[in-house]
Amino acid sequence: MQQINQIYINGQFVTPHGTELFDLYNPATAKPIGHVRLADEQDALDAIQAAKQAFPNFSRTTKATRIDYLKRMHAAVVSVEAELTAAIIEEYGAPIARAVWMARHAANVLLDAANVLQDYHFTQRIGSADVTMQPLGVAGLITPWNSNAGFICAKLAAALAAGCTAVIKPSEMSALQTAIVTRALHQAGLPAGVFNIVTGRGETVGALLSKHPDIAKVSFTGSTAVGKHILRAGAETLKRITLELGGKSPVLILDDADFKQAVPMALQAGFMNSGQACVAGTRMLVPEHRLAEVEALIVEQIVNIHAGDPQDSNTSVGPMVSLKQWQRVQHYIQIGIEEGAHLLAGGPGLPDGIEAGWFVRPTVFSRVTNQMKIAREEIFGPVLSVITYKDETQALAIANDTPYGLQAYILSSNAPKAHALAAHIDAGRVLINTLAHEPRAPFGGFKQSGIGREYGTFGLEAFMEPKSVLS
Ligand code: NAP
Ligand code: MG
Repeated sequence: MQQINQIYINGQFVTPHGTELFDLYNPATAKPIGHVRLADEQDALDAIQAAKQAFPNFSRTTKATRIDYLKRMHAAVVSVEAELTAAIIEEYGAPIARAVWMARHAANVLLDAANVLQDYHFTQRIGSADVTMQPLGVAGLITPWNSNAGFICAKLAAALAAGCTAVIKPSEMSALQTAIVTRALHQAGLPAGVFNIVTGRGETVGALLSKHPDIAKVSFTGSTAVGKHILRAGAETLKRITLELGGKSPVLILDDADFKQAVPMALQAGFMNSGQACVAGTRMLVPEHRLAEVEALIVEQIVNIHAGDPQDSNTSVGPMVSLKQWQRVQHYIQIGIEEGAHLLAGGPGLPDGIEAGWFVRPTVFSRVTNQMKIAREEIFGPVLSVITYKDETQALAIANDTPYGLQAYILSSNAPKAHALAAHIDAGRVLINTLAHEPRAPFGGFKQSGIGREYGTFGLEAFMEPKSVLS
């Protein structure tokens, strides 16, 4: 049993003022693996105070100093990669290949930020003005459980690169990862108070960060409902707010695509991170006259998608993070059946041969209409909808007929046509024939998928305010 009894404030590991114990589980077994003692509002206040005190000096550090800090943080997180990978598997259930990628990503984002900073010019002359980018102040960084270590490091990297100081509120369901990352970041030896990590509940610590007058900026990744709440809470003090929220990303398979390649790729896009990904391609849009061919390929290919033991290198879909999340996904599978969608693969209950753990059968519904609930709402599990279109004009209309706009995928052998379609899709990112991430390009959503952008120069500038000095 793991016991996590400390938070990190002002450069020190301290016992929280909060006394609530929160149970941690291994989602692959549904058994408890330990507990974390949660921070409360008093701890959040102490953390904000420490970050506020550290801000004046830190905001005046040179670019070279901050690049050095980021590189030291990168090296420190690299040094715990194996431990972090094991924790990601144990408390989140990511399949091993994914867990390795996630742990590496947590380190890489720190180096990426150092590189962005290296090339960034904080001042420029515009007309008669010297325009300087100035850090906003103390940033509140709130992360979810579906990539906790990665989001801690990515948000912190951008905040510190800009010269902000930070209070981080990670997901309490990810306390093992947070403990490992915190220990590593402490080793990097930054000045006390520059970053503070207080694991506590969203309704207490998260809510305080969203309204406290000494927090200038909130960067949040999570559900759209909580994102809207944070925006409202921040309005009183006009906080700068970055929101990375949900998605219902379309995967457009064009008639000219090689379906033997496109269908497996679309399944991969849909089932990535066990379906617990805001960018998952959960609506597969296919030409109507080729539906039978697509259905046959899905049935053939889905046998290669194994849901089960995350330690098994054959597994590509791990368990859902919690019982609540498992029940939510089961509920949506039931809704799909009740809405009259055709259950092509998977369905309710546990996958064959599995008796414990929060596993879901990789599920594909076909003959779904875009008005069905399963096509409109973010399920956050391995449940995909196949929707047909008559022509590309209709495909575009369906792709854009969603409250979300985070990511879209186009699979086609006709590059000019794919690019022309991409120009008409309302999404922050469009991936043409690839599933690869580009850390230098901005990431974020149109419409209700969020506000603002992370990564690269855009992500850096989200922690700064331009100031014009005219002379
Ligand atoms: P969530 O409630 O939005 O949680 C995200 C983070 O926000 C957590 O650290 C959470 O803390 C915190 N939080 C909750 N209420 C808050 C408040 N009032 N003020 C400030 N912070 C608050 O997401 P969830 O409940 O874990 O998952 C529910 C659904 O959200 C999922 O099914 C999925 O659809 C979506 N989701 C999206 C993403 C994404 O990457 N866009 C990630 C995760 C979840 P607590 O853990 O204490 O609640
Ligand atoms: Mg929640």
